[in-house]
Amino acid sequence: LDHYFKQIEEHQHLNAFNEVFFYSAASQAKLVQEKIDKGLQGKLAGMVIGIKDNICYRDHQVSASSKMLEEFVSPYSATVVERLIAEDAVIIGRLNCDEFAMGGSNETSYYGPVKNAAAHEKVAGGSSGGSAVAVQADLCLSALGTDTGGSVRQPAAFCGCIGLKPTYGRISRYGVIAYASSFDQVGTITSSVADAAILLEVLAGADAYDSTVSRLPVGAYQKALKDAGTQGTQEPKKIAVLKETLESDALDADIKNSILEAIEEFKAQGHTVEYVSFDLLDYLVPAYYVLTTAEASSNLSRYDGVHYGHRNLEAGSLNELYKLSRAEGFGEEVKRRILLGTFVLSAGYYDAYYQKAQQVRRLIREKMEEMLSHFDVVISPVTPTPAFNIGENIDDPLVMYMADIFTVLASLTGIPAIAIPLGNNTDGLPLSVQLMAKHFAEQELLSLSHTFL
Ligand code: GLN
Repeated sequence: LDHYFKQIEEHQHLNAFNEVFFYSAASQAKLVQEKIDKGLQGKLAGMVIGIKDNICYRDHQVSASSKMLEEFVSPYSATVVERLIAEDAVIIGRLNCDEFAMGGSNETSYYGPVKNAAAHEKVAGGSSGGSAVAVQADLCLSALGTDTGGSVRQPAAFCGCIGLKPTYGRISRYGVIAYASSFDQVGTITSSVADAAILLEVLAGADAYDSTVSRLPVGAYQKALKDAGTQGTQEPKKIAVLKETLESDALDADIKNSILEAIEEFKAQGHTVEYVSFDLLDYLVPAYYVLTTAEASSNLSRYDGVHYGHRNLEAGSLNELYKLSRAEGFGEEVKRRILLGTFVLSAGYYDAYYQKAQQVRRLIREKMEEMLSHFDVVISPVTPTPAFNIGENIDDPLVMYMADIFTVLASLTGIPAIAIPLGNNTDGLPLSVQLMAKHFAEQELLSLSHTFL
């Protein structure tokens, strides 16, 4: 813990933490040490972990990096936090992110952008940018993020970390500030596959507080990794490469080449690799943004200046109170999405946009399920480019949205996906590849990543 406190102090310029929990982390560490001395420690004893600032921790502030929740203190802990603590992890602080997890560069945060530790003029990615940089710069051992459309995988890719988004419904969302409830999923950012495995083992599984969590048994992910053994000893897998994603003009040449090399390596390890056509690529981003903004407009209606959060004190009427509190509390991107979402849900447009997008989501899901009935793992890039410059894209929402093209597929279909680092380009910026698998086949992703790395 002292090591990480010192690291955080020396890397304040990265802006990764919204708050360091000096006091509670130190007292938790002391408790864990006592348990270790007695040989009674849990599975995560010694793991110092940061949590994205949209995950509630009892008696601690949680802001979603928004002015709206600037002063808010959570009266309860998220299930994921309870589970970490029950296994003796130490929670070191809350990590910067895009406001209400809406963004892909950490630039929509009320607390300002996070800097990529590989190059300070570059974005960290988002929305879990603080989580990725904290692991990248060794400010904590691992971090929790949330992934609605790529928010764990994309920043992990920009920062050279491992980002796992489990199957929708694998991990409880209780106590996680909602963005788009049918997409939101807690994920992990780690520097090893083994850490991702042990965290998933602790975090996953049924929860009485979230009825969307699956009751399927949780795998012994860590043991299975050990059993998978060293490189090359794994059973051969059938791998599909999404052809159109590698042929896309938007794809950076270094990313493409590193993925082609990875494919050769998979083949050398005895796996079979086939190129498979996926012709719905153009529909992914539109369907994602219609559906998530619709859900967001509903979820964020609770911030009304009355129940909790920012309140305007000068308002002369209830309507004015709603209006002013929301106008002052939300940032530009959040407002844009609430407006978009309200529009696509409104009478007269519902059928044309919202309903149509739901139909498209179903088509995409069926297509992926069909493909995954023939393959164990599907490969695509995580991002079209390596980390871009801070300020480069933020004024152009469409450019920002289009950059999510490769990550939203797993989100629309609910399948698990992992971002795996593939080294750096000549500018020292991390490159990566994405592996996806069938619903609840996280083990497949972990084992393949483990033998590959
Ligand atoms: N960049 C995507 C968005 O802005 C993903 C965000 C997320 O996964 N929370 O919606």
